[in-house]
Amino acid sequence: MGSDYQLHIFFFPFMAHGHSIPIIDMARLFAARGTKSTIITTPLNAYFFSDTLDRDRQKGLDISLQVIQFPSAQVGLPEGCESVESITTIDMLVNFFEATTKLQQPFEQLLKKHQPDCIISDMFFHWTTELASKHGIARLVFHGMSYFPLSLFENIKRYAPYENIASDSDVFVVPGLPDQIEMTKAQLPDHIVARNAISDMMEVINETELKSFGIVVNTFYELEPAYAEYYKNEMGRRAWNIGPVSLYNINIVDKATRGQKSSIDEHCCLQWLDDKKPNSVLYVCYGSCSRFSSNQLLEIAMGLEASEIPFIWVIKTPRNNEKEQFLPTGFEQRMKGTGLLIRDWAPQVLILDHPAIGGFMTHCGWNSTLEGVSAGVTFITWPVFADQFNNEKFITQVLKIGISAGNEVWNSWVEPENVMVKREMIEKVVTQLMSHGEEADEMRNRAKELGEIAKRTVEEGGSSYTNLTDLIEKLREHKSIHTSQRSKEKAINK
Ligand code: UDP
Repeated sequence: MGSDYQLHIFFFPFMAHGHSIPIIDMARLFAARGTKSTIITTPLNAYFFSDTLDRDRQKGLDISLQVIQFPSAQVGLPEGCESVESITTIDMLVNFFEATTKLQQPFEQLLKKHQPDCIISDMFFHWTTELASKHGIARLVFHGMSYFPLSLFENIKRYAPYENIASDSDVFVVPGLPDQIEMTKAQLPDHIVARNAISDMMEVINETELKSFGIVVNTFYELEPAYAEYYKNEMGRRAWNIGPVSLYNINIVDKATRGQKSSIDEHCCLQWLDDKKPNSVLYVCYGSCSRFSSNQLLEIAMGLEASEIPFIWVIKTPRNNEKEQFLPTGFEQRMKGTGLLIRDWAPQVLILDHPAIGGFMTHCGWNSTLEGVSAGVTFITWPVFADQFNNEKFITQVLKIGISAGNEVWNSWVEPENVMVKREMIEKVVTQLMSHGEEADEMRNRAKELGEIAKRTVEEGGSSYTNLTDLIEKLREHKSIHTSQRSKEKAINK
């Protein structure tokens, strides 16, 4: 296989912004390194990034989309329910997963038609490992998580340190990891503590992952060297760290339209930030699918106002309160100049990269965590579900670049009814993080240094750049071995 052979890779993202945004960046990154990238998705999801791909094609990148229908109606989901963000109940989530299993047949048809050399697919599409092997193709798994949360989950399952713990709030140390990581049972996902349908699915994901070609991880080696080694050596996975993939977005338009078009004009947003002092503004956002109750939003508003710290707050309106009757009377008027409210979707990477941003109050989704690290900001951690408590431990206990808002309980769904953090605590942590105390300054210095390293790692010669080169070479070798095996088989069968 000559080095001029153009690899063709299928990218198959799960239908949730937190999973699809980094895979799209990854597909663009591979195309920029000379591969042909084809993204497989459904009509409504395609809409979110088709303009970005048009711009890439105009720049000469070999990148395109193949659209397959999402069988919402077949599984009893409403028309147009094609992404996790439009799910409102746990039952709908079960149907949603069922719908994704029905994508196997149209996906295989595309494989037969286009014969790519490799599939990079989300962990939830575990069945792509078998399809890939049937067609002699390499499958790489994308989790959306990094080495630290993956290693932490593995050891929690392996050693079950939460068993024999008297109370859900008692602290235990997770055994076998490079650092002493402290957690409580209340912070663990339901499917780990008690067996349910998700536990079964996670087992299948684990088994198919071990049979796959390897794992691509959106992280960089210098961020978590001990966990990169742990994951590969102790957990026996072949993995390539090629991130932060968000750094592939360099110009304003790419940053502003990542995921979806923002509800605020990006230039207005930048102008607002331009008027602020460096490191003075707190950015508050809880990811693409977390929605808080009206009572919790009121507490956030009161806490932010009391802190007197300038802020940008991305608000997702609660589903039962579309008239927005949760903000204190006159809040927006009083906050003019101090606080900028953005409804539903903000140009997050554009905001984080602005020098005025000093802190990030986040739900600790892995993308947000890594985007904050890349921008060199410090964190207030407010995890809610999924791997978010793991990422909180990473920020506060390993990197030591953030403080916790104090939410202690993992929620099984995305719009918790309760108030997780009260206004007094919000005011306290915001003031503490944005102050110039010794501890806050030390965290800030560490965060800035990590931000610099993150940027160097994706440049030519950097660790993620080199890892991607290595991965592309390994995929070529795989293709070459498979092609010569096929020729031998053909010769024998003649
Ligand atoms: N995001 C954004 N604007 C928003 C909310 C989220 O651009 O208003 C992006 C964010 O930059 C990140 C992704 O959506 O890339 C969210 O992923 P993450 O893993 O942080 O959390 P999730 O949404 O999966 O819970």
